[in-house]
Amino acid sequence: MVAGRFRFFDARVLRTRRLGPTLTRITFGGPQLAGFASGGRDQSFSLFLPHPGQDAPLLPDRTGDGWHRAWRALPEAERAVLRSYTVRAQRRDPDEVDVDFALHGTGPDDPPGAAGPASHWAAHAAPGDRAVLLGPAFADNRSVGFRPPPGTDWVLLAADETALPALGGILEHLPADTVVRAWIEVPHPSDIQDLPHGPGSEIVWLVREPGAAGSPLTEALESAALPGGTPYAWLAGEASAVRALRRHLVREVGVDRTRVTFSGYWRRGASEEQLRSERAAAAAS
Ligand SMILES: Cc1cc2nc3c(=O)[nH]c(=O)nc-3n(C[C@H](O)[C@H](O)[C@H](O)COP(=O)(O)OP(=O)(O)OC[C@H]3O[C@@H](n4cnc5c(N)ncnc54)[C@H](O)[C@@H]3O)c2cc1C
Repeated sequence: MVAGRFRFFDARVLRTRRLGPTLTRITFGGPQLAGFASGGRDQSFSLFLPHPGQDAPLLPDRTGDGWHRAWRALPEAERAVLRSYTVRAQRRDPDEVDVDFALHGTGPDDPPGAAGPASHWAAHAAPGDRAVLLGPAFADNRSVGFRPPPGTDWVLLAADETALPALGGILEHLPADTVVRAWIEVPHPSDIQDLPHGPGSEIVWLVREPGAAGSPLTEALESAALPGGTPYAWLAGEASAVRALRRHLVREVGVDRTRVTFSGYWRRGASEEQLRSERAAAAAS
């Protein structure tokens, strides 16, 4: 059993659709998804994937509380790959969940092995492929981060391509008249998407220079004219870019730190396993 409001859901790939050079949408289905209950916005969940050559992700008995310890005890090369993703959309009748994967290291010029396992899986996913989602069984759950406090006059959003699905979910959730300023960084001009937004929203797309080490987000925000009133900021993407953005907003712009929700979705040079281990070690010390 998984504590609280989360459960394991077996799923299969129903279809895939390329959204642009970087993003691919994978639609999951299966009878168990009838119990999956996304809270919308930036709803995240844990995704278990098979390694190349495996028919299904290898997980230990998931009925007990000790599944995580048992999963870690399995050989790394065999146990399911565990990564965090966002619910881009959920539909009923039939039960379907869309997840948008940012592909990295999968291009024709990338050396073999350049892609992380999740990116590699997504690039090759085909209908019928199996995955397991550890996600919400209740829409009200703690894996939704976007929570503007009372007194918010306007919303600032900043994301790279990994957080674009979450940003899309947030825009869909907000009332059409919300004042929103959004900055989105993508690797390629053809990654720019139509996003749902009301008349109060302004979306700025930033295309990263090929091979650029840094993010253009901070520079764009530094030169932006921001609306008056009390903001709520939601920032997600590469960890050091997100940290720099948060620092700028709190120190230079004077945004109250309690009004900034920020999340490093990935860190250059570190796999998600490494990030999870670091977090676990920090929590234990
Ligand atoms: C709450 C949350 C929600 C997320 N939602 C999404 C989502 O909806 N869609 C999505 O695409 N990602 C999302 N991510 C990010 C995703 O989990 C990471 O990008 C993850 O590292 C991908 O796993 P991987 O196996 O491909 O690479 P890993 O094995 O984790 O990493 C291998 C190497 O690739 C690098 N790397 C990882 N991601 C990228 C990238 N995008 N570009 C360039 N290099 C990279 C790492 O720094 C590392 O050096 C989310 C992360 C979090 C924490």
